[in-house]
Amino acid sequence: MATINSGIPKLGVRNTRQRTAVVNVLRELDNFSSAKTIHAALEARELRVGLTTVYRTLQSLAEIEAVDVLNMSNGETLYRHCTTEKHHHHLVCVDCGRTEEIPGGPVETWARQVAEEYDFDITGHDAEIFGRCPKCLAIRREAKEEHSNAG
Ligand SMILES: [Zn+2]
Ligand SMILES: [Zn+2]
Ligand SMILES: [Zn+2]
Repeated sequence: MATINSGIPKLGVRNTRQRTAVVNVLRELDNFSSAKTIHAALEARELRVGLTTVYRTLQSLAEIEAVDVLNMSNGETLYRHCTTEKHHHHLVCVDCGRTEEIPGGPVETWARQVAEEYDFDITGHDAEIFGRCPKCLAIRREAKEEHSNAG
């Protein structure tokens, strides 16, 4: 789910420096990243923001839909600052994390129809696609060939 504001999101005046730092790092990271990864990226840039602040900032950014959230099956929550401003979905490479922003296509109509059918007032929907990108597929194929050649 994603409606993205292009400016630095306004979350009140407190901790503005930290928030700006988190948003800037998110913009640099192209892949969906965990709070820990984002925290490490901040440290690498010598920006001192506590992990708790990173968590809280990401949560409030997600609440105002300034960042996209991916809930992984292992319970991990990943965040990404997407470039598409309108509502979109994601195609994510499970090996390298490469992410493509894709339109929902028939998912949009289907979600609306199902909600209507059950008299639900729709508040949102989620549909992400996971797979392996061409680059990672080639790496896997090569590794397999090497393996069979060796044997
Ligand atoms: Zn997105
Ligand atoms: Zn990949
Ligand atoms: Zn959608």
